[in-house]
Amino acid sequence: MYYGNDAQKQKYIPKLATGEWKAAYCLTEPSSGSDANSGKTKAVLSADGKHYTLNGQKMWITNGGFANLFTVFAKIEGDENLTGFIVEANSEGISLNAEEKKMGIKGSSTRQVFFNNVKVPTENLLGERNQGFKIALNILNIGRIKLAAGVMGGSKAVINHAIKYANEREQFGRPISKYGAIRHKIAEGVIRTFAVESATYRAAADIEGAINGYMADGMDKQKATLKGIEQFAPECAMLKVVGSETLDFCVDEAVQIYGGMGYSAESPVERAYRDSRINRIFEGTNEINRLLTVDMILKKAMKGELDLMTPAMAVANELMSIPDFDDASGKLFDAEKKYIRNFKKARLMVAGTAVQKLMMELSKQQEILMNIADIINEIYVAESLLLRVEKMVEKRGEAACQEYIAIVKTYIFDAADRINKSGKDALMAFVTEDELRMMMMGLKRFTKVEPYNTKEARQTIALKVINKGEWCLSDAVNLG
Ligand SMILES: Cc1cc2nc3c(=O)[nH]c(=O)nc-3n(C[C@H](O)[C@H](O)[C@H](O)COP(=O)(O)OP(=O)(O)OC[C@H]3O[C@@H](n4cnc5c(N)ncnc54)[C@H](O)[C@@H]3O)c2cc1C
Repeated sequence: MYYGNDAQKQKYIPKLATGEWKAAYCLTEPSSGSDANSGKTKAVLSADGKHYTLNGQKMWITNGGFANLFTVFAKIEGDENLTGFIVEANSEGISLNAEEKKMGIKGSSTRQVFFNNVKVPTENLLGERNQGFKIALNILNIGRIKLAAGVMGGSKAVINHAIKYANEREQFGRPISKYGAIRHKIAEGVIRTFAVESATYRAAADIEGAINGYMADGMDKQKATLKGIEQFAPECAMLKVVGSETLDFCVDEAVQIYGGMGYSAESPVERAYRDSRINRIFEGTNEINRLLTVDMILKKAMKGELDLMTPAMAVANELMSIPDFDDASGKLFDAEKKYIRNFKKARLMVAGTAVQKLMMELSKQQEILMNIADIINEIYVAESLLLRVEKMVEKRGEAACQEYIAIVKTYIFDAADRINKSGKDALMAFVTEDELRMMMMGLKRFTKVEPYNTKEARQTIALKVINKGEWCLSDAVNLG
């Protein structure tokens, strides 16, 4: 679809589109997981130039058991980088190991695939020689935003199970959904899911807008699609992380709401708990995606695509000045907008100082990079949520949006503490003495939020879904 030439597309896409054929993506090897470009699978061109001979082993291949077509990444002779190949599964020399015995997603086939002197016609080389790693990564970008959308579906499904069970299960003479401790769990799942969903819709719309823009400038659809997705690769990585962690939170709390039944293999949440866990591992582990997020943003800044220096200087100057006591006007979300502006200052202060002080050393300071990634993720989700609900309020009016307003306010209130903690951990690792004291004060200033009764807000949110008996929050398409 994205990298094939016309002949390849005509040959394979119709069968894949109808489902007559299934496909698999073969990148990982036993000794090359996160370090995917270090694969050992080799391709050697035949003397007559008509085919490549493929030798190697791939591991953890989804759809492996029934795929008709493999996209295989291998190195041609002594190349430094991978090249992509389209390999038909019935080619001589391909064999499979038994199905992996997995913790979850047992409905998904996962197998090792062996290539033993497999002849691949030269016309099945995908894209260009040495460009396979780029292909693999860009396909992962698409996979990451799709994973985020998928796990939001999973979160809603598991929240539904939890609500239904909590409404039915009685203890001490009342349904457990009447208890504040249970309502807190349900509300928190709803808040996080709705927030990450907002960020997913935002990134998807941004990608679509970029693709349409490139096409309007005359670029062909295939190139425009790839460029549009690549432009938002940091967002795809952020969504993969926050999405998979949100689902893990929801399944964990659903098991808790089910109590002993949650631990029984008969309950749907036991399976959800096991199935969810893989999302933090595949499509690039969450550690790798956090590292990538910061790395990609810093690279954009170095290439001049993103100006970090000017705002970072402005924040540095602000740190030396008297705090701004000009509090919000009292209009809905004025305060939250100010908080987000301030969170961004905190982000610039922490990340900017880290770049300035650690320079090349920063890429090796992973704990600090994790802290910075967490701050970036928090802000992206919080801002997306605010933008979405602001639009909803514009269309429906404030009175009809009370639960959504409570979601925004609670999420942003809590995000302030999380950003403060990540910021503190980072700063203390590389700033000392007076400078540290000044930066800690700055961080406090930039993560300051007014008191907000989150208990009452969570009650409002939980009651909406408990009364309805299921997830009943708006989708982005139907804002009206
Ligand atoms: C069910 C399942 C389905 C899969 N499907 C496919 C598929 O269809 N196709 C495919 O090609 N692959 C597939 N994979 C493979 C998957 O993408 C890898 O498992 C994943 O990328 C991690 O690689 P690894 O398992 O080798 O872990 P490792 O890379 O060994 O990582 C182990 C731990 O070390 C951390 N780590 C590694 N490097 C660093 C670093 N530089 N800095 C900090 N921490 C680091 C990781 O985050 C992780 O916590 C699948 C895996 C599973 C389990």
